[in-house]
Amino acid sequence: MFEAITQIGTVHSAFDEPSDPETMRERESTIVIDEAYSDGLYRIEDSDHLVVVFYIHEADAPTLRGPRRYGVERGTFASRSPHRPSPIGTTTVELLERDGRELLVRGLDAIDGTPVLDLKPYAPSLDRPTRETDRRADPRGHVERAIADRDREAVLLEAGGIHGHYCPYLALGVMAGVHAMRELGATSDGFEDLIAVTETNSCFADGVQVATGCTVGNNALVYRDLGKTAMTLVRRSAPDAGVRVHVKEREAIVERDYPEANALFERVIADGEGTDADRERLAERWAEVAFDLLDRPIGELCDIQTGVAVDLPDPAPIYEDAICAACGESVMAPKTVERDAERFCRACAGAEYHQLDGRGCSWIESDRVGSS
Ligand SMILES: [Zn+2]
Ligand SMILES: [Zn+2]
Repeated sequence: MFEAITQIGTVHSAFDEPSDPETMRERESTIVIDEAYSDGLYRIEDSDHLVVVFYIHEADAPTLRGPRRYGVERGTFASRSPHRPSPIGTTTVELLERDGRELLVRGLDAIDGTPVLDLKPYAPSLDRPTRETDRRADPRGHVERAIADRDREAVLLEAGGIHGHYCPYLALGVMAGVHAMRELGATSDGFEDLIAVTETNSCFADGVQVATGCTVGNNALVYRDLGKTAMTLVRRSAPDAGVRVHVKEREAIVERDYPEANALFERVIADGEGTDADRERLAERWAEVAFDLLDRPIGELCDIQTGVAVDLPDPAPIYEDAICAACGESVMAPKTVERDAERFCRACAGAEYHQLDGRGCSWIESDRVGSS
């Protein structure tokens, strides 16, 4: 009926007849893929879990409401019964090891000789039912779930939404943030219980903000102008138990492992040369590098310290407003300066102020000396 359905391999198992599925799933088995389909296994070992689709070749005649091993009686389509009109099984297994065309797996409830029809990587973001709660009630729920599922890709996709482009440093920020969140077992509700300290304000910082939920705006992000691609995550309730992640070789990772993308970056961004087509190609290559980095073990790229003591600032104060005597705009009272018994904003008073920009923090001399 469907000629495109093909056996791509065979299960080798210690079970040569059906047994209790629970017992079967505890044991390891091997899936041997036919030579003709071996190229389809390219990079399959990047996945920890696979969905195995197989033909239940020794199934009994199909029933629509069969006896069940346990539980209440159900229709076949409401159960996992093997005796189905289309005797096809699907099981999510753990991929333990790949040796050429042989995949050592755990969790497969298929007997020896079972024909395998297909393999797919298990993707929590696709295969898990969307536990999509009300985003109004739980604005970070989807990010927290992605972190719990080790789904760094979903967090990077979210980070791309505020960062505007994908780049290796954004990916490293996501990796650092996700790792620290998992290490600390933390969640963030955006109310300053969880604090991230970033030592750079590069692309990395955006990845950290999205992964941790600690941002400039919710006062849970502390910026230390140290120029290191590093972040520390800590709870106010346990300020000596921070987790610090430092990117070992910020430049070298890209220079060494992605030289073609790096050369393009040098030409287009660092030297400001290159055509529009080069720019477009850089965006594509940079995104490839970003998503590729996510698959690498974090220990390869970063140093990780736990039990780091962090000197935290007090929670953000709520300041009263004052009105500037010159421009008439409202301004947080402690930010004003007093002249001749009147309050002025720093701009009108020609006073210096702090600025955070691409260079880091600096003092800026106001150009509006005196009031206008
Ligand atoms: Zn970037
Ligand atoms: Zn003013």
